[in-house]
Amino acid sequence: MKIMPNRMDYGYLKYQDELEAKALSVLRSGWYVLGREVQSFEENFAAYTGAKYCIGVASGLDALWIAVKLLGIGPGDEVIVQGNTYIASVMGITINGAVPVFVEPDAYYQINADKIEEKITGKTKAVMVVHLYGHVADMDKITRICRTHGLKLIEDCAQSHGALYKGQMTGTFGDAGCFSFYPSKNLGAFGDAGAIVTGDARLNEDARVFRNYGSEKRYYNKVVGANSRLDELQAGLLNVRLAHMEEITRERQELASVYSRELQQKDLLLPRQREGTRSVWHQYVVRTRRRQELMEYLEQQGIGTLIHYPVPPHLAEAYRNLGYRKGDFPVTEEYADTVLSLPFYTGMHPEEQQYTIDCINSFQ
Ligand SMILES: *Cc1c(COP(=O)(O)O)cnc(C)c1O
Repeated sequence: MKIMPNRMDYGYLKYQDELEAKALSVLRSGWYVLGREVQSFEENFAAYTGAKYCIGVASGLDALWIAVKLLGIGPGDEVIVQGNTYIASVMGITINGAVPVFVEPDAYYQINADKIEEKITGKTKAVMVVHLYGHVADMDKITRICRTHGLKLIEDCAQSHGALYKGQMTGTFGDAGCFSFYPSKNLGAFGDAGAIVTGDARLNEDARVFRNYGSEKRYYNKVVGANSRLDELQAGLLNVRLAHMEEITRERQELASVYSRELQQKDLLLPRQREGTRSVWHQYVVRTRRRQELMEYLEQQGIGTLIHYPVPPHLAEAYRNLGYRKGDFPVTEEYADTVLSLPFYTGMHPEEQQYTIDCINSFQ
């Protein structure tokens, strides 16, 4: 059997008829950027998350850097972020000239809330929480810290659509929740797309103007903005998928629970869900010191796996200027050296998962 780490075609085939009907209707509508589908998606996604406002943008990275910028963060300011994230979180900060200040992750792969306060300086303006792998950070502690120190709170929810902390959705705890709808995300478009959710009326207005060349009224430009518009085709397809989001999430929880129940290999450390949260399982990430060996063994059985992520941002070539060295963030680096994402996707066949489990369990 041949098993890929991710299969985006299965997620499409599952809702094929509805998606194709929607695509045709958008193509025939004669209107392709920022129209009725975008507006209804913004309303639907705000309602889904429980946020007051939702602003569609062109990607998850745009959602991040535009939110950071419009919250008034710029050159010289510091933003606290976890060390073990996808590099886009960090770029959302540095594109604005602000400085990322890294914090080690906890046992759930999220920012270690007990290590945030020691990193706060006179220059700290915000904390960016990344709900990595679809799990949820310790939001009670983090919101308390932000309130006490007068810091903005930005959530990178690119991997956490629908994840809950004590019944509340990620993205609604702070000033801005930034989402990506890149095709492989839990709520995936068929191209690039993203959104900011917020309860802040001013951020809502500013982001709407900023994403469209800084203009509210066509050809009357109030500020220097960007072109980060969401298009009708992506918004329409996202509307179709959003209506099935609970089903998609339940399926991922079920897949995760099968892995957690049946994986028996003694060298593997399995992921856990924090008390009081609902993980949406963007990835199923295990840890093992024998990663290279296991990857090669699985490859021989036809099973592909991925590493999220092999190089932590503080050691990325792109951030050599920050001056970090190996050893500066031991937990982050240990995770980078040992994490392994097993095949995991919406529409995964039970036989595919069983074969993967059997192969892993027979790894000596
Ligand atoms: C995917 C991702 C992003 C970036 O989203 P794009 O739509 O690819 O720009 C940001 N942060 C995290 C944690 C992600 O996984």
